[in-house]
This record gives sequence, C-alpha cells and structure tokens, in this order.
Amino acid sequence: MDLKDHIRGIPDFPKPGILFYDVSPLLAHGPAWKTAIDRLADAVRPHRPDVLVGIESRGFLVAAPLALALGIGFVMVRKRGKLPGDTVAHSYDLEYGTDTIEVQSDAVKPGQRVVVLDDLLATGGTMAAAVTLLRRIGADVRAAAFLVELTFLNGRDKLDVPSLSLMAYD
Ligand code: IMP
Repeated sequence: MDLKDHIRGIPDFPKPGILFYDVSPLLAHGPAWKTAIDRLADAVRPHRPDVLVGIESRGFLVAAPLALALGIGFVMVRKRGKLPGDTVAHSYDLEYGTDTIEVQSDAVKPGQRVVVLDDLLATGGTMAAAVTLLRRIGADVRAAAFLVELTFLNGRDKLDVPSLSLMAYD
C-alpha cells in the first residue's frame, strides 16, 4: 500500500507560498492508518523503547496508538501551561519569535529509553527541542520517528539521534 496516496498537499497554508502536507486523509482511512502504525511499529521496535513520547498535537495521534501496539507507555510533550504538577520547560527559536514546550518532571524515569514521535519533520527545530527537554529529565533518547519527512529542509541534520520516517518528500 502506498501511504502517500493518503497525504494531501494544501498550497498557501498557513501562509502564502507554503505547501502544507495534510495527514488528515491518512488518519481518516482505517486500513491505511493501521498500515502506517504497523510500519512505524516495525521501524521503532529495534530501538527497544521503554516509553514513547508524542509532541503536541499531531504527535499524540501517532504516539498513542503506537505505544498501545508496542505494549508500552505514552508520555506527552505539550505547549507551555497545559500540564499540571511539576514540569520542566524548554524554549526554542522559531522563524519569528520563540516557543516553549513542557513535560512533567516525573514523566520519564532517569535512564529510560524513549523514542519521540511527531507527524512530520520539517526544519527539525521542534524535535530537536523535544529531545533537549527530555534529556533534561534524564531520558535516554534513542530515536525520533515521523510519518512524513520533508527531506529538502534537512531537518534530520539538526538531530543527534536516528531519524525514522515512513514517507519522504523532496
Ligand atoms: P519543524 O520544527 O520545522 O521540523 O516543524 C515540524 C512541526 O511543525 C511539527 O510539529 C509538524 O506538525 C508541524 N508542521 C510543519 N510543517 C508541516 C506540514 O507541512 N504539515 C503538517 N505539519 C507541519
């Protein structure tokens, strides 16, 4: 099955000149979505994670069913101010301004092996920030995994962990 049949390119979103890769049709198609999760499970399993981390918000949609398929736990990295209790934050630069992500301080035990999931790898800034944040709470980050990778943006060069993706666009 060619999963790219279920990815839609939407021109000029969220601003003029940007081609947005929309994963909604993949999520909406039961057999294709199951195939995507099965393939990701095969790619992620060799990294032997103890826990999977999803980056808000579409990363949750990928990491939660994958964690269930692998029989392991799921942890959320969220935007600032959304998580209760003790949290650790990390700010990172965007094209214009900065953004802050957070994780609960006890979400991962020191030394636990984690794989981090997001729907799409573009410049790599979001995933690099999540890896830094998770290391701050003691996680042993083994890999980053995505449904889609925009190879022309060279995002994997920003990551110091193996980068896994099911579909690439260049
Ligand atoms: P990066 O930080 O530049 O790698 O951007 C990746 C983040 O932005 C991910 O959390 C994606 O969900 C989101 N993103 C950027 N471009 C797209 C796109 O074309 N389609 C879907 N999500 C995107």
